[in-house]
Amino acid sequence: MTEPILKVAVPSPLYQPLDYLPPRGSDAAALRPGQRLRVPLGRREVVGVLVGVAGESAVGGGRLRRAVELLDAEPLLPADVLDMLRWAAAYYCHPPGEVHVAALPVLLRRGRPARPRVAGLWRLTPEGAALDPAAIGRRAPRQAALLAALGAAPAGLAAEALAGDGPSPLPVLRAMAAKGWVEQVAVPPAPSEAGGDWPEPSPEQREAIDAIHAALGGYQAFLLEGVTGSGKTEVYLQAIEAVLAQGRQALVLVPEIGLTPQLVRRFRRLGAPVALLHSGLSEGERLNAWLAARSGEARLVLGTRSAVFVPLAEPGVFVIDEEHDASYKQQDGFRYSARDLLVWRARRLGVPVVLGSATPSLESLHNARRGRYHRLHLPRRAGGARPPRMRLLDVRGQPMDEGLSAGLVEAMHRHLGAGGQVLLFLNRRGFAPAFLCHDCGWLAECPRCDMPLTFHRVAGRLQCHHCDSRQAVPVQCPACGSPDLRAVGAGTERVEAVLRERFAGVQLLRIDRDTMRARGALEAGLARARSGEAKILLGTQMLAKGHHFPGVTLVGILDADQGLFSADFRAPERMAQTIVQVAGRAGRAERPGEVLIQTHHPEHPLLQQLVRGGYPAFAEAALAEREAARLPPFGQLALLRAEAPRRADARAFLDAARASAEALAAEGVQLWGPVPSPMERRAGRYRAQLLVQAPTRAQLHAFLSAWVEPLAALKSARRARWSLEVDPGDTY
Ligand code: ADP
Ligand code: ZN
Ligand code: ZN
Repeated sequence: MTEPILKVAVPSPLYQPLDYLPPRGSDAAALRPGQRLRVPLGRREVVGVLVGVAGESAVGGGRLRRAVELLDAEPLLPADVLDMLRWAAAYYCHPPGEVHVAALPVLLRRGRPARPRVAGLWRLTPEGAALDPAAIGRRAPRQAALLAALGAAPAGLAAEALAGDGPSPLPVLRAMAAKGWVEQVAVPPAPSEAGGDWPEPSPEQREAIDAIHAALGGYQAFLLEGVTGSGKTEVYLQAIEAVLAQGRQALVLVPEIGLTPQLVRRFRRLGAPVALLHSGLSEGERLNAWLAARSGEARLVLGTRSAVFVPLAEPGVFVIDEEHDASYKQQDGFRYSARDLLVWRARRLGVPVVLGSATPSLESLHNARRGRYHRLHLPRRAGGARPPRMRLLDVRGQPMDEGLSAGLVEAMHRHLGAGGQVLLFLNRRGFAPAFLCHDCGWLAECPRCDMPLTFHRVAGRLQCHHCDSRQAVPVQCPACGSPDLRAVGAGTERVEAVLRERFAGVQLLRIDRDTMRARGALEAGLARARSGEAKILLGTQMLAKGHHFPGVTLVGILDADQGLFSADFRAPERMAQTIVQVAGRAGRAERPGEVLIQTHHPEHPLLQQLVRGGYPAFAEAALAEREAARLPPFGQLALLRAEAPRRADARAFLDAARASAEALAAEGVQLWGPVPSPMERRAGRYRAQLLVQAPTRAQLHAFLSAWVEPLAALKSARRARWSLEVDPGDTY
């Protein structure tokens, strides 16, 4: 009798699953895709995922190795997730083993049992409950004590509660579990407080909710467009309510810093058990949440990027909030787009998916135009608040006070005087982005990157924002000895200092990574901002996302020029999204907000479109530029990056890669480069890149699938670290 061959995705750079024989003594009928196996790999043993069972192997029978152990009785990953991972490995040209590993919580990757941890409760089995503790007390006093304690707590107890001040009860509990007396159960996810007010939807919200309701039970992608405060979250909530009522689950993805307690509280109104998945969890908590989603115990799953992989027992609807957000793109290792994968999964499962944003990505707008996404629009702010007015402040030739123009300062006085709050946005932390010698021009640069060091005055050091290397502030120029060293340009720390002088006595709050380091600091800061206690809010990206400050009537964008002339083709889109998102923090019904944008390029066509016609006009213009340049979404890109301690090694790899690409002579495929990366040296490594452009996805993929394996086999690949990114989020 021939044994079945197991196809196992193992964590390794191999582009195919590996073949194994079943573990000794295993029942062939019990082997199903989605189970984990412990398998030998080289001299190690690793945990892999069974992805298929075949009748024969290309590997000679004698050389096949045998899996060591089957780790799961049931498949951990359901068919839709397995299909999505297979598709993703092919689409993103990434080794399937690494892709499968990315989908599992760390504890499961390490081969731990798929049982809840940390908060898992112990309780008696019916057999255990039938025992008389007193009868076994003499032989096994600790077991008797545990039986008695658990007998008094039918809902179960945590191991810590059972331990009291004594030693860990776990060994004893395990021994009792082996006898079938006790078992471990998942803690039911915290019950939600249902109720609260359900506002009456506006006609536009009604239309959106009805459209989603009508689509339940089949695939449909929606692009829900609406400015901040237009009531998108209300639409999600009411759509999800119907899904829960049908006995199905909802999965909601939010950006990295969007999962605030405030937002979670709003979703708790649904009264459904919630599982949260985000980077702040311990590994045990993450595993528990993952298992609760998989078992269906959690009816609503709220998570960041990697929650797209979470198994669901009864999926009914998917939502992705702020779909344009860059945090949905994984930036290293397996570089996927959670948004694109979620849409793929929705189609595979036949459930609707709602992409919401005030500033949709150009890709999603394009999909809506072509009819792939059904467009839903919330044109007004809930409660009738009017959108803020945007104006450009031409700062050319203007005297600037550490980044503040006279026009902006005057407007600040006006708004503060009228009782409004002011929000200033500057996406640059630290005191100054450059530190140089006034006599000889020496510039403090990072020894490991091609970038100037940022001067942090309060911390008293120079710091690299790219590799985090730090050094003391010199008192004299290392090149000429002059003591005349100057900080040039302004970051949030410097702007704060000048604001404290010019607006003495006005409560000021600075929100950036340096001031909000402590746990809970951001929440406390945001509360001060919302309550109106802080009058001037100054911050970076941290302040720009997901928060609404109804008391803010003036928004100042201190530097709009950063995004206009970047080497990255997505920079203008990001800039416009950020400006609109920041602007959206402001204003309420009786006092429309005002937005002032400082720029040296007031004539720039994209900025002009943005202030005259808002984001839709900007997007039209930006899409036309993309179309002319055949850039996404009108052309397809992949970026091959390489880095090495020696410039020549990165270059040699990319030259060889280009040669092997040319040998393939793929139709429609154009190669650009290799060229040095815009920041050539980072963290001590030289970086270069080769861009691949093709008119269609099919053409790009026909080429990539033929190219990627030979790339890995190139001799020069050994001296460079390289990665291939499909649909690159930036070309940096
Ligand atoms: P968005 O998600 O688009 O930023 P929200 O759903 O958070 O908008 O709505 C903004 C505010 O308006 C919230 O405080 C919300 O409770 C309120 N709101 C939303 N829809 C309505 C409505 N139909 N009637 C009254 N208030 C509403
Ligand atoms: Zn000098
Ligand atoms: Zn550096």
